[in-house]
Amino acid sequence: MSSLDGYQRFYSSCRDKPTVTGDLSDVHELAKEPLQGLKLASHAVLDTAQQRGRLKCSKCGGSRMFFCYTCCSLVGVNMQEIPVIKLPVKIDIIKHPNETDGKSTAVHAKILAPNDVTMYTYPCIPEFEKDKVVLVFPGPGAVSVQEMIQCLRDGSKNRSGDPFEKPCLKRMKGEAHAATNSAKDAQSGTPDEAQSSESRVYPLQRVVFIDSTWNQTNKISTDERLEGLLKVELKSRKTCFWRSQRGKPDTYLATIEAIYYFLKDFHQHCLGQEYTGEYDNLLFFYSYLHSLINRAKASAGKS
Ligand SMILES: [Zn+2]
Repeated sequence: MSSLDGYQRFYSSCRDKPTVTGDLSDVHELAKEPLQGLKLASHAVLDTAQQRGRLKCSKCGGSRMFFCYTCCSLVGVNMQEIPVIKLPVKIDIIKHPNETDGKSTAVHAKILAPNDVTMYTYPCIPEFEKDKVVLVFPGPGAVSVQEMIQCLRDGSKNRSGDPFEKPCLKRMKGEAHAATNSAKDAQSGTPDEAQSSESRVYPLQRVVFIDSTWNQTNKISTDERLEGLLKVELKSRKTCFWRSQRGKPDTYLATIEAIYYFLKDFHQHCLGQEYTGEYDNLLFFYSYLHSLINRAKASAGKS
């Protein structure tokens, strides 16, 4: 039981989780059993590591289980034992320096998709190319994943003024039907599908996520290097994050959830392909930790 000590704080906040009253039936389902039905690699390796307990990280000496959130490396688990995921687009994660590393789920993405994920600690961030990069961040002016590509294209055509104001949204509504049809065409399988997938998502090159508590996030998102980026919002997803963020609606996602749901939408709406679990393993650690907490909760309920 001692190895579960670190998760006690998660468990206690689980009790405060708001009751789900979703009106959309799929959202309701998702919230009830959010991590069911995922296509995941075997968790046996994590079971073994969990029974063994915490080990010292060979790089920083910190006491860790599964991975070191400071060094972004595995601890007590080998690379060959965990899934590695290839992502369809590059992902940059910007961490707030004050964010307690142990709480962050961003490191899950870096460990599970090491070739496609880059982490930055604010304020050390690169200059992003405004017409090729989007920021996943909710708020006024944010568009859906479905609308994103068209907005980027319109933005790069019309560089004067604020490129992302309104026209792309108006156009999107008219084109929604056409887009659905082309997605169907793509599913029926064209010979040069890979090539057409690439041109379908052009000019998008990178997707930026901010990893910090929601109170600190505003400061980062209004940084002038990010301010001009097209903002993309994941509107209908409910979090199953065990540390519910007090006072925030439960559509506010943990970073790994946000990345996962973004990619799922991207696969379906931008690549026009049927989703068959391609990125489910991004939730490899997350779903395991989630089930550990539920087990702890259940056994505490019995005693
Ligand atoms: Zn370390």
